[in-house]
Amino acid sequence: MKYIGAHVSASGGVENAVANALQIGANAFALFTKNQRQWLAKPLSESSIKRFKQALYQAKIDPKQVLPHDSYLINLGHPEEAGLAKSRAAFIDEMQRCEQLGLSLLNFHPGSHLRQISEQQCIARIAESINLAHRQVPNVVAVIENTAGQGSNIGYRFEHLAEIIALVEDKSRVGVCLDTCHTFSGGYDISSAAGCEQVFTEFGRVVGFDYLRGMHLNGSKTALGSRVDRHDCLREGTIGTAVFEHIMRHDEFNGIPLILETVKPEIWADEIAWLRSLAA
Ligand SMILES: [Zn+2]
Ligand SMILES: [Zn+2]
Repeated sequence: MKYIGAHVSASGGVENAVANALQIGANAFALFTKNQRQWLAKPLSESSIKRFKQALYQAKIDPKQVLPHDSYLINLGHPEEAGLAKSRAAFIDEMQRCEQLGLSLLNFHPGSHLRQISEQQCIARIAESINLAHRQVPNVVAVIENTAGQGSNIGYRFEHLAEIIALVEDKSRVGVCLDTCHTFSGGYDISSAAGCEQVFTEFGRVVGFDYLRGMHLNGSKTALGSRVDRHDCLREGTIGTAVFEHIMRHDEFNGIPLILETVKPEIWADEIAWLRSLAA
């Protein structure tokens, strides 16, 4: 079974995200549980938590198909102690919010070394950040997203993801989210059926599909290996449609949230319907 949705607005309260997902024909979705551009947020109110859970239940959306995304400010591999401590505290808060909402996943970008420490040192910090969060919050899986490798971002190689996982103590609560745009701009050629076979076989060998807990389905505005992260609609841009055909027709992508972060929310319903038609 394929679970498809988009990163929908939670404006006015997390509970509103559910209706926004239903409106586009989704059976999965992503959301921010707080303002993604601010460090501090009010705790979720009891009534908001209750309404969110009720809405999810009524929508018949499985909480496992909801993939919350953390704040863009957090850098779990921060080279400086103060920045690292602030990020770790904010990440734990994000995990607690997921736990309160009855959700089991938290998607995040691994982190950036800011050219002050090595990639290896940054990877070790990210893994330790996950270990610290695991000790504070039960049940929530830390879902590391692969990146385009823009700036000093870690996570543009499958090996980075594998190295972080190797250093995480509780392997049952760590996973990955592959973003098609980031994969392509990070240098993996998924623009043809043969390319997809090769790249996903490599992913299976280096990371393993057991760790795949979600995907972001995006087109890209930039060239293969550009290391620049610019999303496009699924049927526009530089990647082409082979990767979406591959994902919809292969069972390794069953049972996990497949989330659009494409640039025209007004055609999300149409993009979702198109994806479903590929699976049929
Ligand atoms: Zn993404
Ligand atoms: Zn992106």
